[in-house]
Amino acid sequence: MQSNEIRVFCPATIANVSCGFDVLGLALDAVGDEMVVKKTVEKGIKITKLTGQNLPMETLQNVAGVAGLALLAESDYDGGFEIEIYKKIKAGSGIGSSAASSTGAVWAMNELIGKPFTPLQLVKFAMEGERLASGVAHADNVAPAIFGGFTLVRSYTPLDVVKINTPPELYATVIHPQIEVKTSDSRRILKTTISLEDGIKQWGNVGGLIAGLFTEDYELIGRSLEDHIVEPIRSILIPGFDKVKEKALETGALGCGISGSGPSIYALSKGEAIANNVAKAMTDVYDKIGIDYDIHVSKINAKGIKII
Ligand code: ADP
Repeated sequence: MQSNEIRVFCPATIANVSCGFDVLGLALDAVGDEMVVKKTVEKGIKITKLTGQNLPMETLQNVAGVAGLALLAESDYDGGFEIEIYKKIKAGSGIGSSAASSTGAVWAMNELIGKPFTPLQLVKFAMEGERLASGVAHADNVAPAIFGGFTLVRSYTPLDVVKINTPPELYATVIHPQIEVKTSDSRRILKTTISLEDGIKQWGNVGGLIAGLFTEDYELIGRSLEDHIVEPIRSILIPGFDKVKEKALETGALGCGISGSGPSIYALSKGEAIANNVAKAMTDVYDKIGIDYDIHVSKINAKGIKII
């Protein structure tokens, strides 16, 4: 018998992964929100509880509500849902706070009504939540939350998401300096054109990263974690970025860059021990500068959202 209520873990995600602006993303294991979703006879969506962050509870102003309504609009189900959101991911951190809520809502609803929708359809619904959060319906956070592991958004029109292999020894270190960078601001400062020269470097790295992930070639992954287009511009908004990156690489990280639109900075390492050393190196930089931070070390989450 189908249950009427489930509790899910909604992972934090790292979008862009240096070379893959708006197309690459990965899901984390150690950081995420929880949500409880219940079926109701009453139609529509109500957010009945929201703890951990000060965010709007009105259905149309919360990404969980907007993504959920996108699902309901396409569904035969004639009831509604109540949602409780327990935020652990800080909004605006750059590790997919909004994506965790929009994906958690639609994934749980789909489970409760007998899974009529494919993961790709769930990504489409969740993208409506991203449109509310940042003004752009990007999929690079919501795709890994739903599919798990690394994902590539090969195309937006039509939407085509490819799940990429996750090498087992890959760990992420993420530091979130406590400064505010709005996704909308960090998009506005980007140029809308790139040079052919930069394009060549960038698609070389995207191809190299994908090949490295599939063949579990950690050196190739490291060489490919470069961003010649977005990082040089966005890193200006993140105090200490260059130093954090330098120290992470010196400590043995395979690569280091901006997580999503920042201000979080991520590094990937081979093995948990190096990832922990990288965490220490990153925190030392912010301790010296005098900026507070949250720090996370996490295995890559190959499964994505799950029932808990
Ligand atoms: P992140 O990069 O961590 O996802 P964003 O800045 O993209 O952060 O998204 C946060 C924005 O989305 C904020 O303006 C916030 O008010 C809005 N928002 C609406 N509902 C939610 C929610 N359930 N969780 C997180 N953010 C939400």
